[in-house]
Amino acid sequence: MEIACNVTRQAPLIAELVNLATVRLRGGAWVDPLEGDLLVEAFTTLLGARRSAAVLTEPDAGAHLAELAWELRQVLLADRPADQAARINAMIAKYGAQPYLVEDVGQPFHLHFHGSGGGQVAALGGEFATALALIVDGYGPDRFGACEAQRCEAVYIDLTRNGSRRYCGAACTARAKTAAYRSRRQG
Ligand SMILES: [Zn+2]
Repeated sequence: MEIACNVTRQAPLIAELVNLATVRLRGGAWVDPLEGDLLVEAFTTLLGARRSAAVLTEPDAGAHLAELAWELRQVLLADRPADQAARINAMIAKYGAQPYLVEDVGQPFHLHFHGSGGGQVAALGGEFATALALIVDGYGPDRFGACEAQRCEAVYIDLTRNGSRRYCGAACTARAKTAAYRSRRQG
């Protein structure tokens, strides 16, 4: 399995895996966190939008993906930079992330950080843990957060230039603007 390997492509995949598997309130509505085959299917669809050959076929892929999602969630919602860094380092060690150069079809050689610990989800875990480390290194420790719109618990990764992101996506940004407008009119 190959996945998009640069940080800007991986950031939304990481946030969406966490949101699919762990979030109960999203965009103003209650949702059921996905697990098992449903989680695999939804996440594979996400990967497929970027890389058609991406498939997760290993046994227990759903359980492994859910475990990865909860680990990523704890990184994204860590209170302190030291805790966040410790969790990322632990994931890099657990999944055995190793840098190596890959030549994909139509692309020059570029760096991957697949986990070396075993299955497909472990490979993914190595990539994602390294991506989070690169984001902390390149952007600072405060680029992960939970959506500030009402009735939404979705997480996001902020790769904007000025670190201005507060919401999980366009729908919640619009909802928050509407709510602010209403409260100004009522005020
Ligand atoms: Zn939201």
